[in-house]
Amino acid sequence: MNDSKQRPNLPLLGFAAYSGTGKTTLLEALLPLLTQAGLKVGVLKHAHHDFDVDKPGKDSYRLRKAGANQMLIASRNRHVLMTETPEAEAEFDYLLTRFDSAKLDLILVEGCKNIAFPKIELNRHEVGKPWLYPNDNNIIAIAADTHVESPLPQISINDLDSIRDFVIQYAADFKFDTNSQADASNFTQPNDDSNKTQSCSEKKTSEPIVCCDSFSPAGLSVPQGQQKILETISNVSLTEKVAINQAYGRVLASDIVSPINVPQHTNSAMDGYAIRGDDLDRESYTIVAEVMAGHSFDEELQTGQAVKIMTGAPTPLSADTVVMREQAIEKDGLVSFPEAKISNGQNVRMAGEDLSIGQPVFTAGTRIEAPEMGMMASLGFGECSVRRQVKVGIFSTGDEVQDPGNAQQPNSIYDSNRYTIMGMLQKLGCEIVDYGIIEDDEQKMMAVLHSASLETDMVLTSGGVSVGDADYIKLALDKLGEINFWRINMRPGRPLAYGKIENKPFFGLPGNPVAVMVSFINFVEPAIRKLQGQLDWVPVKANAIATEQLRSRQGRTEFSRGFFTMNESGVLEVKTTGKQGSGILRSMSEANCLIEISPSVDTVKVGEKVTIIPLQGRI
Ligand code: AMP
Ligand code: MG
Repeated sequence: MNDSKQRPNLPLLGFAAYSGTGKTTLLEALLPLLTQAGLKVGVLKHAHHDFDVDKPGKDSYRLRKAGANQMLIASRNRHVLMTETPEAEAEFDYLLTRFDSAKLDLILVEGCKNIAFPKIELNRHEVGKPWLYPNDNNIIAIAADTHVESPLPQISINDLDSIRDFVIQYAADFKFDTNSQADASNFTQPNDDSNKTQSCSEKKTSEPIVCCDSFSPAGLSVPQGQQKILETISNVSLTEKVAINQAYGRVLASDIVSPINVPQHTNSAMDGYAIRGDDLDRESYTIVAEVMAGHSFDEELQTGQAVKIMTGAPTPLSADTVVMREQAIEKDGLVSFPEAKISNGQNVRMAGEDLSIGQPVFTAGTRIEAPEMGMMASLGFGECSVRRQVKVGIFSTGDEVQDPGNAQQPNSIYDSNRYTIMGMLQKLGCEIVDYGIIEDDEQKMMAVLHSASLETDMVLTSGGVSVGDADYIKLALDKLGEINFWRINMRPGRPLAYGKIENKPFFGLPGNPVAVMVSFINFVEPAIRKLQGQLDWVPVKANAIATEQLRSRQGRTEFSRGFFTMNESGVLEVKTTGKQGSGILRSMSEANCLIEISPSVDTVKVGEKVTIIPLQGRI
């Protein structure tokens, strides 16, 4: 269901609560109060189970079962449209467009707790569930039976008149968009974001409330961390020329403009016979030449003549129409096309049709991959101007960390982090300077950090940044530069040190092997791409249906290791790779994606949609 539209030009208000709080009961009591006040109210309710409003045996039921994908049943008092969505659940925004908003004053929503729109949180102490408001900036008021420390308006959950007054005031304060009539037919398509999930990290400018930039005051959200890092990074300024066959993975330093026409000459798109477009109705044509690719026939074609021509061969002057060989009968030097319907100009590719001289091809900041190499070669470039390769210094920290290749020492673990980091840096085309393993010694750390910062463009370490750790790298970092020790509201990968030493970006990644990779993917990779000069890079994300229940905790982004596949209906499905401990590196090796569960979600149920980040090409 991809045709989600802009939201109706109507006040929209949800009631968010855990089950057992009595949302439906409250709405049932509230609706008469609102209608008595003269409001026409639409209600959207999300059900987790597979409901059916129809009754077995009824005509509409029988017609649906017989195959009606949409079933509209109408009578004097009501009509109902039932739409089957076997492929995927309809998007929230799409469902809103189903309302006849011209006939409503307000839409209330029950459920849809994880979607960003204004809500009242309902909470009853006896239900024993955590509060939603600290983790969801979409909550604009609280209706509860206890009082909390919060600047939000608070109403007693048992005081229906006050809840009614709040809702009426909310509807009265709603700023209608005067450019849009309250009519579903006037909704405009958003800028091609119809395919995205309603994840809280995506800001929608049209929304009155923008959510979840700071879930926990103690930590940073993933986008906040990313933004703070990217703000401090500028690309390497030096450029160099490289041969096209050495250009893979590099980033263009200047625009590429086509120096030639592609194709160079007007040519045949088929193996066949070229004739004149003003000479189509003849019974047969005299074959005057045969033109192979790479050759030409340099005379103007006369009426009554044809040339036998191969795909890609230049069409002779005036031979502007090609009939494919399968439609031709050739005999005694003559060719005829008894069955062919020929139109003037068919099967001919015009000179400059793909690219003409002076046309822009690639802009500076484009990463050169196979198609770009091929394109530049096709334009005759032997070399191109690229940004200098980024040099990254890496080392591991910890007395317990041992280099592989020797017998294992007592109380030690082999260093895996440096190797996963090397692999990911290689994917990004970086030059790697390996400083090995540095033991937990402040002086040694300082010496290596300092020289690595002078010798490279960026320094990456792993281990020793956990909050509360008495690790030496922190002491060293404190003396060397401006390093922030952040707690990112994510799992795995909560601790992250970031700052500059000798004006070079420094990342202190966590020690746990999975956390290292997840932090690298989320923070280091975007930073390196920016340093390399790549413009406008965003990671590929997609939606998939969870085939198992996924647990998370509200307030942090959960990155589970997942495996996605396409089912027989062409829909992506995802499950985890099993145990998710942040030390279990195997989970990364078995995964083909990360499952990203947004901070506003605590549990993803089977059948619900989640965001996945495919890992192919990235790790
Ligand atoms: P730390 O943050 O230094 O306390 O490290 C957290 C966990 O990650 C500890 O169990 C470390 O032993 C482990 N660890 C740290 N560095 C590495 C490494 N280079 N390779 C594998 N595991 C590591
Ligand atoms: Mg350590």
